[in-house]
Amino acid sequence: MTIEERIKSIKNEIGDKVKLVAVTKTYPPEIIKVAYDSGHKIFGENKAQELIAKYPNLPGDIEWHFIGHLQTNKVKYVVPIVSLIHSVDSYKLMNEINKEAQKRQKVVNCLLQFHIASEETKFGFNLDEVKKILDSEEFYNLKNIKICGVMGMATFTSDENQIRKEFKNLVAIYYELKNKYFVNNDEFKEISMGMSEDYKIAVEEGSTIVRIGSAIFGKRNY
Ligand SMILES: *Cc1c(COP(=O)(O)O)cnc(C)c1O
Repeated sequence: MTIEERIKSIKNEIGDKVKLVAVTKTYPPEIIKVAYDSGHKIFGENKAQELIAKYPNLPGDIEWHFIGHLQTNKVKYVVPIVSLIHSVDSYKLMNEINKEAQKRQKVVNCLLQFHIASEETKFGFNLDEVKKILDSEEFYNLKNIKICGVMGMATFTSDENQIRKEFKNLVAIYYELKNKYFVNNDEFKEISMGMSEDYKIAVEEGSTIVRIGSAIFGKRNY
């Protein structure tokens, strides 16, 4: 299948209520342009340097999502480009995003990344850490970030039951936060979960955004 056919087939599978972020890390602008020309406009990168390098070589109406661990010293480069940061994983990062957004008089949409996998290496909050932040006064002074939902990555495993359990956990976290802190906030609505290997399970469990790279563009060469 071509890139265009793969995107079309994934969009058919996930339905029109789930957003597809085509993850373009390691792929050059020429390849990304093929997806763009087929009509897809939402792309995701996980490294600030790579995003900054590619962004000027691609059309300006692309909706860029940042999906990887973001260091605070890179925030100033990413904030002007992206429309959603999926990977907010510390108060320090929130504060920095807010600061840079304020300078540019914009509001940056963010998702809270939760650690739901069994691997220790994956970044993300646990629920107690987030509750502490959302209970704090400082959080409500961050007027230039908007928390739009949650994000998580399941364990890299072939055990479907485990993956499903982890996604269910993220969905439970989403609803707990929704009911306690965002009940009247229609913008807190996103659950970003599901990658090439597990997006079907993620969609069954209630994902609203899937982040898919290799199933569209082929195997990555690092
Ligand atoms: C690379 C990456 C993806 C996409 O991975 P694939 O397995 O290629 O679909 C999704 N989310 C994050 C955070 C990533 O870094």
